[in-house]
Amino acid sequence: MQTRRRFLTTAIGAAIILPYASLAATKGFDTFQGGTGKITVHPIYHASFVMQVPGMVIYNDPVGQAAAYAHLPPPDLILLTHHHSDHYVPKTLKALLGKGTQILANPTVYNKLPKKLKAVASVIGNGQEATFGNVKIEAIPAYNTTGVRKKYHPKGRDNGYIVNVDGLRIYSAGDTEDVPEMRALKDIDVAFLPMVLPYTMDAKQAVSAVEAFKPRFVYPYHYKKAYAKQFTQLVNQGKSQAQVMDGAWY
Ligand SMILES: [Zn+2]
Repeated sequence: MQTRRRFLTTAIGAAIILPYASLAATKGFDTFQGGTGKITVHPIYHASFVMQVPGMVIYNDPVGQAAAYAHLPPPDLILLTHHHSDHYVPKTLKALLGKGTQILANPTVYNKLPKKLKAVASVIGNGQEATFGNVKIEAIPAYNTTGVRKKYHPKGRDNGYIVNVDGLRIYSAGDTEDVPEMRALKDIDVAFLPMVLPYTMDAKQAVSAVEAFKPRFVYPYHYKKAYAKQFTQLVNQGKSQAQVMDGAWY
């Protein structure tokens, strides 16, 4: 724990000292110090982002034009949380596929994958783990818990992911509310939390989750601006000590 905290002290500095010129040139990224190397996070759009970790480039739910990713190396691993069109676009995946790219998908997406993509894909369900080189992926349940919202993301179908790499745990929640499995997470260094109704949760639920599992850094993603603004204010006023990261999602 001491070791991790020391890394993160460095990470705060790194995130702040990046010159604005380089941020503008690359559409913005943040750097976090791992145990042996750097991890950079490149927000692209909505729920799509790219992580460069030691030895691997990981794309999370990439959608949109391939040109939006042209400044980044091709993916070694693509994580797909669920089949909704703001998370899974086969055309984009085909365009992004590089030599040796592997795909990890929840069962619903896996079953829908066109042949070319399925050939490089593997499936992971809630609570399961998968290992790619020095990266361990955990699939965390992502679902709605509130009334009519349950139809959007029923329990047991969709994934969030924890990427364990180089001493850090990076959690991309997927489309979910503040489910017990999220609230019980431990030692999360960087979290990505969605907030928009009716598909995920409101800002207060997201803040409540942050107070519960205490990520060191948290990105609001998959949001409308008012949600992220309220979330940032409430986290900053709260007791979690999480640092809110302002990604250039939109
Ligand atoms: Zn969805």
